[in-house]
Amino acid sequence: MELEALTKALGVSGFEDEVRQRILNAVGGAEVDEFGNVVLRGRSKVAFVAHMDEVGLLVTNVEEDGRLRFRKVGGVDDKILPGSSVVLYGDGFRVEGVIGVAPPHFQQQQQQVTWQDLYIDVGASSRQEAEAMGIAPMTPAAFSRRYVEMGRYVSATALDDRAGCWALLEAYRRGAPATFIWTVQEEVGLMGARAVSKNLDVKYAVVVDTTACCHPNWTGGVKPGNGPVLRIFDNYGAFNNKLAKKVLEVAKRRGIPIQIGSGGGGTDAAAFFVSGIPSVAIGILTKYSHSPVEMAHREDLRNTVELIVALAEELSQ
Ligand SMILES: [Zn+2]
Repeated sequence: MELEALTKALGVSGFEDEVRQRILNAVGGAEVDEFGNVVLRGRSKVAFVAHMDEVGLLVTNVEEDGRLRFRKVGGVDDKILPGSSVVLYGDGFRVEGVIGVAPPHFQQQQQQVTWQDLYIDVGASSRQEAEAMGIAPMTPAAFSRRYVEMGRYVSATALDDRAGCWALLEAYRRGAPATFIWTVQEEVGLMGARAVSKNLDVKYAVVVDTTACCHPNWTGGVKPGNGPVLRIFDNYGAFNNKLAKKVLEVAKRRGIPIQIGSGGGGTDAAAFFVSGIPSVAIGILTKYSHSPVEMAHREDLRNTVELIVALAEELSQ
């Protein structure tokens, strides 16, 4: 499966059906649990994990004049909302929308806007018109899709974490012996991973996610293009020292570039940790995280697949 196809699937947290379907189409014999996580069990002691969901918006109210009030799903910066275009979606429909902002002509002075001042405009002039398009409270809105190659980078919507989903699929395609898990609702508190990790017979979990680039204190001296990042610490503190050392050892032995860094936020690794499964997170450095123009270096994507394959082979016993 191409990374482009995965980034073009819509998957706001809790509404990951399109992403799940693409993954199920690409692998045989996977199960879907009660929560929507996809689990492909292998005869192995190691599980690789990536999350299917992305940050976005959720319609909370359709106003009488057809405007849509919304709330944010996951960590979205208010500053990127005005002027964004979004896609609202549900059973059998996709509707284009924009988040409008008053034009500069009408502004006395530049004002700070928050998400609560904003609304989504889908071109409906009444509640009935919006409802006829399929829109109702609980309709998700994802950022409009975009996928371009720029220099040695890919810039796309939802690289967080379709890049990880893709890397797992590539490793699977190459026959890596492992259990593969694609989780739901990571961006709203690692919910899918919390559920699935309670019900899993593996010795290790290696989470493959993006990691925000770059800040001298938060991330350390990591750089795009220099390899996947072993996240030694983040806001959840999820990091297993023993497993991390093994990962470094395997990467070194196989000649796979790897960097050591730390992250803000957290990953599904924390959920496995509290369920008693030693876990680490491998991060694909991503510029402009949680915006519609995330960027990842192609060499890092390629080396992440190499690292997963190597770890699967060496940790599977
Ligand atoms: Zn992520």
